[in-house]
Amino acid sequence: MTTIVRSRTELRTALAVAPRPVGLVPTMGWLHDGHRALIRRSRSAEATTVVSIFVNPRQFGPGTDYTKYPRDEARDVAICESEGVDIVFAPAVDEIYPPGFDTTISVKGVSGPLEGAARPGHFDGVATVVAILFGLVGAERAYLGQKDAQQVMVIRRMATDLAIATEVVACPTVRDPDGLALSSRNVHLSPAERAAAPALRRALLAGRARWAAGERDAETLRDAMFETLTQEPLIDVDYVSVADGSTLAELDRVDGPALLSLAVRFGTTRLIDNEPLG
Ligand code: AMP
Repeated sequence: MTTIVRSRTELRTALAVAPRPVGLVPTMGWLHDGHRALIRRSRSAEATTVVSIFVNPRQFGPGTDYTKYPRDEARDVAICESEGVDIVFAPAVDEIYPPGFDTTISVKGVSGPLEGAARPGHFDGVATVVAILFGLVGAERAYLGQKDAQQVMVIRRMATDLAIATEVVACPTVRDPDGLALSSRNVHLSPAERAAAPALRRALLAGRARWAAGERDAETLRDAMFETLTQEPLIDVDYVSVADGSTLAELDRVDGPALLSLAVRFGTTRLIDNEPLG
């Protein structure tokens, strides 16, 4: 039986009688098979699984897609029920940020490049809401997607620095058969854009192939990714990156663990993907 709670108090009451250990899967809803994979990982390891559904206004920049972000709570709850989720926490904005709320969690270094540079304030919003969720749920573990690799790094840093005992478990990216990473934003792609979108994966695999063949010059790997993307006229490249696997600083040479990543736009729809190396 899935219990749906909307307030901090109801959540605490439900958790007080929930068997431990507890796993948390934080989401913004519009659940897909990527979210289902996180839920299943949690269910296989934890006695209680909590899914939060909250489209967090603080992680969207002004004039970006907060209002057009897809929402369908009834469908999301049905998916959680079918996956055996124990508790769904679906709060209103005022419940997370009540009147007087005046705290921002700002992780420095690893929040700076890539998505942090492209979306100013984004990771402050993410770190703040996840700190609240971690504090409220007190889970033993939280299950996050490797698709948002930088987000995983930011949240790990935040939890370590704030002495929050929740361990962050990063789970593999779930993809459609043609390689496109599942994302709630894929719903906004036109048929032509959807047909072009596997180029993201092809670009990352082109970079990986050059690296596997011995190429260590980072700019050559970036060029390989960029050229693959620009073969699709519907794609506007936001960035391609070959970055250090722990700091996310852009590399000149790939001599250790690294992260290939990219962000593109199809019109107003922005998609990201990544591939770890080493
Ligand atoms: P979101 O609802 O997009 O904020 O995502 C909630 C969680 O699901 C985050 O930890 C994401 O990284 C993860 N996630 C999103 N898409 C995927 C995917 N295709 N595969 C695995 N995890 C994903």
